[in-house]
Amino acid sequence: MQVDFSMENIRRCLCLECPVQSRSQCVADKKKIMLLITQQDLDSAMRMDTDRVPGVYCSTGKAICRDIDPHEECLCSGCEVWREHRLSEDEVSEYFCVRER
Ligand code: SF4
Ligand code: SF4
Repeated sequence: MQVDFSMENIRRCLCLECPVQSRSQCVADKKKIMLLITQQDLDSAMRMDTDRVPGVYCSTGKAICRDIDPHEECLCSGCEVWREHRLSEDEVSEYFCVRER
């Protein structure tokens, strides 16, 4: 099932807490910008472009950041978006940041 790149899914996505991304400087920089947008602009949905959000890769495809560590554990199977869209039934069902669905 296709996943929308929406504010609701950005909020529910677990990628921002995922160990695969936790030591990435690129992801840390993107998180800072996301926080600034959220704090400064109530209409933040308009400014959350796919290249600014280090998450919801099940919708947008592979991560732009290259300094992530796919040897760590993927959190997707614990995510509400994953359950709601039955992503376990897809051929590729996790590690969307490094693999195409
Ligand atoms: S897709 Fe999976 S492995 Fe990649 S950042 Fe998100 S939760 Fe972690
Ligand atoms: S299934 Fe994975 S990539 Fe998709 S929203 Fe959830 S944690 Fe993020």
